[in-house]
Amino acid sequence: MLQPFLNLKTTVIRLNPSAQTHARIIDGKALSAQVLDEVREDVRALAAQQIYPALAVLLIGQDPASEVYVRNKLLRAKDVGIHSLEHRLPDNVSQQQVLQLIQRLNADPGVNGILVQLPLPAHINEQAVIQAIAPIKDVDGFHRENVGGLVQGDEVLTPCTPSGCMRLLHETLGDLSGLHAVVVGRSNIVGKPMATLLLQANCSVSVVHSRSVDAAALCRLADIVVAAVGRPQMIDARWLKPGAVVIDVGINRIDTSSGPRLVGDVDFESASRVASAITPVPGGVGPMTIAYLLKNTLIASELQRAERPISYPAVG
Ligand code: NDP
Repeated sequence: MLQPFLNLKTTVIRLNPSAQTHARIIDGKALSAQVLDEVREDVRALAAQQIYPALAVLLIGQDPASEVYVRNKLLRAKDVGIHSLEHRLPDNVSQQQVLQLIQRLNADPGVNGILVQLPLPAHINEQAVIQAIAPIKDVDGFHRENVGGLVQGDEVLTPCTPSGCMRLLHETLGDLSGLHAVVVGRSNIVGKPMATLLLQANCSVSVVHSRSVDAAALCRLADIVVAAVGRPQMIDARWLKPGAVVIDVGINRIDTSSGPRLVGDVDFESASRVASAITPVPGGVGPMTIAYLLKNTLIASELQRAERPISYPAVG
């Protein structure tokens, strides 16, 4: 049985609007280290049975941010003992060549997870590539079979960032039943799967997006705010109910007088005077995303051993 949210520690925050003067920092770095320890332990147990999960990572082109993300993913994989195979393809690789490589990896029993680092060069159709990955090896959880399965509550590979956010929330609040969560952003990779997972955890969920009327007022109703917008420091204290728990997914680079700096979608300074708990940027959601990618690699390997037949989408 797959239990990605097991081992919940219960340093639980009770939502109490009047008691807070400064938010507790939700330490994603520390929690991700704990998740990575869980993965390392599972990898050891599998090795004792001669099972060695492996992750293939495809990097197309030379986008500097993607290079950093891929390097970090490979380093963490190595740390926990997951074998990784890096496939670097040039900017001018054809879509057909990418699809052929994916087909080979789909068919390779020594590869359990396939990750294609996004974004892709403009001449390659992102959806064609994502949908070519065998769903059972789709460790990003972006294939429509996994997306549909997630909505139906099946045991499927689930996108890493929302999974990491759920773990942060469970560690902070324990049971989420009955809480009102507002997700700001409705992308396929963060906002929508996040809203689905919160619903499965028995929250009442609202999704706010660029066409929402008075997004701040909607957020002020929330016990939990998850910000996944891509706009630096958009959400400040005025958007929050006192005592709310804030998960900031955003990663934005801004220029300051002391040089470039990473900030989230939440104005940490003002929000932390109103929230009861908040994730920092960096050091919040980011490390959890990588940890859940590796957890997903183990889940993929387990699903493959449980032997559901792997479907191999045809190369178009
Ligand atoms: P997208 O650009 O795909 O989606 C942004 C969403 O925000 C859209 O749904 C958009 O609405 C909504 N939005 C934009 N402007 C507003 C506004 N003024 N008010 C309310 N909603 C608005 O971004 P992603 O979901 O891919 O990423 C979001 C952020 O999270 C980025 O900063 C990204 O870098 C970061 N990120 C971090 C990860 C991590 O591991 N920490 C992983 C993935 C992403 P609409 O649909 O109407 O256009």
